[in-house]
Amino acid sequence: MLEVKNLEKSYQKDKTALKDISFSIEPGKFVAIIGPSGAGKTTILRSLNQLIKDDSGQILLDNQDLRTANKAELRKHRRQIGMIFQNYNLVERLTVIENVLHGRLGYKSTLAGVFGRYTEDEKKEAMVLLDKVGLKEFALQRCSELSGGQKQRVGIARSLIQHPKVILCDEPIASLDPISAQTVMQLLKELTEEFNIICIANLHQINIAKKYADQIIGIRKGELVFDEPAADLSEAT
Ligand code: ADP
Ligand code: ADP
Repeated sequence: MLEVKNLEKSYQKDKTALKDISFSIEPGKFVAIIGPSGAGKTTILRSLNQLIKDDSGQILLDNQDLRTANKAELRKHRRQIGMIFQNYNLVERLTVIENVLHGRLGYKSTLAGVFGRYTEDEKKEAMVLLDKVGLKEFALQRCSELSGGQKQRVGIARSLIQHPKVILCDEPIASLDPISAQTVMQLLKELTEEFNIICIANLHQINIAKKYADQIIGIRKGELVFDEPAADLSEAT
């Protein structure tokens, strides 16, 4: 369970990026955060990952407050939080399976990819995950040879191999064509349920959010304007 309570953040004095944001998310739920550019979506994700220090509030992951964690605790928390990026953040010159295995190193893994240091079990698990995202036959291709949609699916497998409790996706489909975008959203939805994790995606498009997300959080000018099960949102929203 992830609970955000009264989160506040200002980058500059007198300019609030987040105002009193509270929400909670159950395991197995795929949540979309939607809102216009500059609304504060990325700031929320960065706070959840503690990449930035918010000014006040609580972020509880299974009742442990990330904001008051010490360095060692924070490192442990971050191992439980996977990230997916608009621009994939893959190591293009390495193979698909090497990129997935990099997820084993967790947050901010460096690029020194030495395939041999992974165990056979880890390689097997990487193949299982590649199968789940439909890329088993691509395991030994370089990432530079893949399409955008395929790259994002590698990103999903890479985040799952770290056994996260939470996956944060910053504009995961913003660089993709509509068909690849649907594939990626469908996969995120299915795998979130299958692994009983929490998946949070920043999105621009309310229609895509309604089609795939379980819960939709609307942000405008740093404020939470709605937090609803996707099914309850009227067409007018
Ligand atoms: P979104 O992801 O919804 O586009 P952001 O979270 O990136 O919104 O930005 C929210 C607000 O915070 C915006 O007004 C933006 O200009 C401001 N902001 C974001 N990052 C910084 C930063 N590093 N320094 C100062 N202001 C920032
Ligand atoms: P560990 O204690 O090594 O993290 P778990 O007991 O959580 O392993 O999971 C056992 C197996 O289940 C893993 O080896 C893996 O294949 C699979 N598994 C569990 N959670 C996940 C996940 N979030 N993503 C992918 N595979 C998972």
